[in-house]
Amino acid sequence: MAENLGVKNAKWDKRDGYKVSRDCYNSYFYIVEDSDTQPIDKFILHGTKFTKYLDGGSALHLNLSEHLSKKQYRNLLDVAMINKCPYWTINVPSTVCNDCGYISKNYLDHCPKCGSKNIDFVTRVIGYLKRVSKFATERIKEAKKRCFAKCNK
Ligand SMILES: [Zn+2]
Repeated sequence: MAENLGVKNAKWDKRDGYKVSRDCYNSYFYIVEDSDTQPIDKFILHGTKFTKYLDGGSALHLNLSEHLSKKQYRNLLDVAMINKCPYWTINVPSTVCNDCGYISKNYLDHCPKCGSKNIDFVTRVIGYLKRVSKFATERIKEAKKRCFAKCNK
């Protein structure tokens, strides 16, 4: 699976003597832990202004901390069209309580039902949902660094 390829590629590059600043590569055009890169900047980076030079395609994985309103989603469609960003998706992690089983569609630090901090996150991976705790070890570390943009409604 491509999710594990980022770990393998980083290991291979290290082994071959390249400078590798992280243990897991990803397909983002920006630093995932950088909270200064705004969602619209990400559409620009993944638009044809830059992607026209690629032969392998690209996909913007827009990490958000919360779901948007219908109007906000429509505005993002406009932003994608203006920047000719052909392929993009939104990731808003859901929270799963490992104690009571409650599932929230929001990205939380505790269970809103029982208060437990024994929680896991579920995120979309290539069209299906997967627990972050089931990722490869290095991918879990990388996922914890991801910045999920906060949006004002
Ligand atoms: Zn709970």
